[in-house]
Parts: sequence; structure tokens; C-alpha cells
Amino acid sequence: MRAYRIALIPGDGIGPEQMDATLKVLDAVQENLSLKLNYVFLEAGDRCLEKHGVALPEETVKAVMSADAALKGPVGETAADVIVRLRQLLDLYANVRPFKSYPGVPCLKPGIDFVVVRENTEGLYKGFEFRPSDDVAVSLRVITRRGSERIARYAFEEALRRGSKLKVTAVHKANVLKATCGLFAEVCRSVAKDYPQVSYEEMYVDAAAMRLIREPESFDVLVTTNMFGDILSDEAAELVGGLGLAPGANIGDRHALFEPVHGAAWDIAGKNVANPSSLILASKMMLEWLGSRRDDNVCLEAAITIEKALVEAFRKGYTTRDLGGNLSTSMMGSKVASLVREFATSR
Ligand code: ATP
Repeated sequence: MRAYRIALIPGDGIGPEQMDATLKVLDAVQENLSLKLNYVFLEAGDRCLEKHGVALPEETVKAVMSADAALKGPVGETAADVIVRLRQLLDLYANVRPFKSYPGVPCLKPGIDFVVVRENTEGLYKGFEFRPSDDVAVSLRVITRRGSERIARYAFEEALRRGSKLKVTAVHKANVLKATCGLFAEVCRSVAKDYPQVSYEEMYVDAAAMRLIREPESFDVLVTTNMFGDILSDEAAELVGGLGLAPGANIGDRHALFEPVHGAAWDIAGKNVANPSSLILASKMMLEWLGSRRDDNVCLEAAITIEKALVEAFRKGYTTRDLGGNLSTSMMGSKVASLVREFATSR
């Protein structure tokens, strides 16, 4: 049996409730498939800052680095000190955010199935900001050839992995941001030449925001810079049922960390009403990544089973409040876990 060391960061707000529900699903997977996940529970976020005076302790960073993969709940106000820092420290340059319309879930249109591949380490979120005077503030947007090239390659490889529409859309604003977006677009265009089997198009970010509403089913892989990707992916989440369903992966050449797209959602924290699906789907992405990286079919099967169980839960009308249902966070986790058991035993 293959075993993996998984760093778990429950985080803040709804994070711990989502983590408990997700662990029920992962328990069901381990009971039924030949797979062992050894968890290392770690602290990071607002509560950690209150308790220990630091939002991202050194031991958390070390444990994440030495784990096979990390699964993280959302964090609150300290997000920049936790996730933005982890992305930079571990060089997790690709933020991969899939969006899919599931049957039984209210969505703008059926047939939506695309992924946003967002550059995760540079752009405006590099945080190079200063205030030369009381009345002026400046933010520097850093785009490099290396950063653009590796994210563009990731996007084309992702299109091949998905193997569906075989299409990459590079999103930028090179008509205005001529230097930064100009370099990003130039590099994407040049990488596209290495992938003749994948069709390539470019779109200005404002047009892409509009097209996401009008024709979301036409997208396959969108590749873009850091802040554009952040904004477009929240918009994309709304197309397919909201943030409660949106998982994300932060992937580098050596490490990977999986988490929901959303934040701590303090307004509903502690009430057992949050949708755990975003973290359950993040755990599915983690198993998929482990499976393809370690050539482990059991992990791949586990990932497929989790998604199948979640889809079946939606089909049966099991949903949380955000999707119009009345299941609690923990109950949703239990329902998906029992469907995992059902599917795994009927293999
Ligand atoms: P951040 O700026 O850190 O991304 P935010 O203030 O934009 O956070 P989020 O926490 O991302 O807010 O989410 C916005 C709102 O969406 C929440 O206040 C909550 O009502 C809803 N929401 C987010 N995640 C979930 C979830 N998993 N289940 C149900 N509702 C959610």
C-alpha cells in the first residue's frame, strides 16, 4: 500500500468545519482503496497569529516542504502572510482553478468546463508598493519572461492533460499595459508555437470578463497574470454555483498545495452551514496530482471516486444552504463519504 505524508492546515473561519467534513471523505477513501494518508496538522492564519504572534510559523513552512502534498483551508486577514508567502517560498507558480457545472447545482448554463491557470508568484501581488508622499501611492507590476514562460507551458500542458477542447486563451491587457502585458502576451504566443495541436487565442481581460458570462462553455484553459486570474476566477465561480464549489491548486516543480478559492467567510463561520465541496474538490485535485506525479493509479482512482460521489450527492439533491439545500457542513461530508463507500465497494 502506498502511503503519503499530507500537511493539513485547517485555517480560519469556515476552514476547520470544511476540513472535518473533508477528512470524513478521505477516511472513506482510505477504508476502501489501498491508500494511506498520514496527516500532519499544522497551524497558520489569524488564530495562529493571535495564539503564537506569527501567522505562518517556521515549523509550518518546514512541514509543508517535507510533506508529499498540502491541503489547506481558507485563512482570514492574514492571507497575504500565509498563502501569498507560501506560494513564493515554495515557488508554487501555477494556480489552477477548475470550474464545472454539475447537474443539480444552480448554474448560469450547463456544459461549463474550463480551468483558469493563473500566474501565482509575480504581477501586482508581488507586493512591491510604496507611498512616496501622503497623496501618492505606487504599486509595481513585475512580469518576467521566465515567469510567463513557465505558466504558459503549464497552461498548454494542462490543455493536453484535459484533452477535451484543446484550446488555450491568454488573457491580458497589452493594448494599455504595453510593457508588462506585452511581454506576457509575446511569451504566450511563442510558447503556443510548440503546441500546434492546441488552438491558441488572446483576449483582453475586459472582453474575457464579458465572454465568461456570455459564452462560458467556449473556454477550455485560460492563462493569465496574477491579479487578473484572481478576479476572473471569483467571477467564474459564480457561473457554476458560487465560491462554495470552487477548489484551487497551487503547483510548483517540487511542491503543491491545495485549497478552496474563497476566503474564511467569517459571516457563516462556526454555524455548520458552509459548503465543504470546495475543500473536498481540492482534496480530489491533490490525489489527482499525487497520482500523476507518482504514477499511482490508486490515487487517480480515489480522485475519480470523490468527484463521482460529490456529483451523485448533488444529483440526489444533497446540498448546503448556499446552493438552496438544507444540509449542514458535517452532514454534507457524511453524505459524500457514504457515497464514496458505495462506489468504492461496487467497483
Ligand atoms: P477573501 O478576500 O479572503 O477572498 P472575501 O471577504 O472575499 O474573502 P470569502 O470568504 O471569499 O470573502 O467569501 C465571500 C462570501 O461567499 C462569504 O462571505 C460567504 O457568504 C460566501 N462563501 C464563501 N465560501 C463559502 C462556502 N464554502 N460555503 C458557503 N458560502 C461561502
